[in-house]
Amino acid sequence: MPTDSHSYDLLVIGGGISGLGIAYEGARRGLDTVLLEKGTCCRATSDNSMRIIHGGLRYLQSLDIRRTLESLRAQSDLLLQYSSFVKPLACVMPLGRFGLKSRWPVWAGIQFYNQLASWVIPSTMRAARIIAADEVDRRIDVLKGQAPYGALVWHDAIVPQVREFALRLQSDAASYGAKILEGCEVLKIKRQGEAFEVSLRQAQGLTAMQARVLVDASGPWLGRIPVEPPFKRKRAPRGWTKAFNIILNKQVDEVYAIGVSGGRGRLFFTTPREKVSVIGTFHHAFHDNPDNLTVSEQEISEALCAYQQAMPRVKLSLSDVSAVEAGVLPIKRDRPDMPVMYGVEQIHDYDGQIEVLSTKYTTFQVQARRVIEKIVGYGKGADAVVCESTCTKT
Ligand SMILES: Cc1cc2nc3c(=O)[nH]c(=O)nc-3n(C[C@H](O)[C@H](O)[C@H](O)COP(=O)(O)OP(=O)(O)OC[C@H]3O[C@@H](n4cnc5c(N)ncnc54)[C@H](O)[C@@H]3O)c2cc1C
Repeated sequence: MPTDSHSYDLLVIGGGISGLGIAYEGARRGLDTVLLEKGTCCRATSDNSMRIIHGGLRYLQSLDIRRTLESLRAQSDLLLQYSSFVKPLACVMPLGRFGLKSRWPVWAGIQFYNQLASWVIPSTMRAARIIAADEVDRRIDVLKGQAPYGALVWHDAIVPQVREFALRLQSDAASYGAKILEGCEVLKIKRQGEAFEVSLRQAQGLTAMQARVLVDASGPWLGRIPVEPPFKRKRAPRGWTKAFNIILNKQVDEVYAIGVSGGRGRLFFTTPREKVSVIGTFHHAFHDNPDNLTVSEQEISEALCAYQQAMPRVKLSLSDVSAVEAGVLPIKRDRPDMPVMYGVEQIHDYDGQIEVLSTKYTTFQVQARRVIEKIVGYGKGADAVVCESTCTKT
């Protein structure tokens, strides 16, 4: 098998949002970087996502201020850096009569949230607030009579065109010298002393490449590439969930993303996308190879049924469904209706082979910085750190 004699500082497997972010950050920090994607970048999980860039309001429920601030900053950075691709999204959620989602706890929470937000987000984003039931009725037809205790209104952000965004990330990474190779499937990883050799298949046939550090960002395929010599993973995910959204052929609301409780820990969102709406996210346990991912008609019908109970004014049948977007996500714990997801990305370092599992878009840049810090931290990219302030884009 022909081997590329060049040895890279960093080889990234997978061109989803995680891999692209890491390749960009690695190249920006001066690492000689190559990314290998078996298909086309951002066409797997990252293309099938609801793509909401959360500002961390939800984390205040568990008083997780660190994560709230991290999400606010990440959201703000994306809105500023990629303003053509990341757009503000007005969101609304009816309040409950009792509990954490009722008026007074929410009121107290948003006072605090607005204060945190005022330190980090652009002043053009409007503050979170509570609107009264009659205002909900006037503004959002499908919530008429459904929000007797008023509703919370806030702003998040969304990536309406993921594929265009992916192209921009690719070109940004390339502008710092990263090589992004699509149609390159990694078949095997071999550890050779301090370095790695990966065997890969591309249109021209089988080849091999070498690198000092390897980052596996293959999303739901993580752990499927044979490694030589084999090693035991410290903390593999407990399981996987099939997560899917349904694209309707009609629009539920033109302006607002509407969040409603679906009972038993579920939260359903309805987001506007051009002239249609996307509803989700629905979950089912998944034990198969991600290449075999499908969503059955019965699963779609059950999802519509659960959604209708939460949004009784929206009448839906299978004929309103135009497409389904599905992906596979790692879970911490299984539960019948709603699995417990990982709150933060999982980054595990097996002596130079770093595995990354993400569960959200919002913090892909934060995740990338953490991975690259790890690499420069253990010296393999020491020269790259020196390079950061002096290198110019190639
Ligand atoms: C239905 C749904 C809704 C979601 N909604 C949101 C949301 O609103 N907000 C949010 O923040 N997050 C959301 N998420 C989560 C978010 O989309 C994911 O966390 C993120 O896209 C994962 O990206 P990734 O790069 O890790 O994985 P992927 O996008 O799956 O990328 C992995 C890549 O690795 C490649 N690959 C695999 N094996 C190999 C190999 N051997 N060689 C080379 N390449 C390989 C694959 O082709 C793929 O392109 C949602 C996810 C789903 C499924």
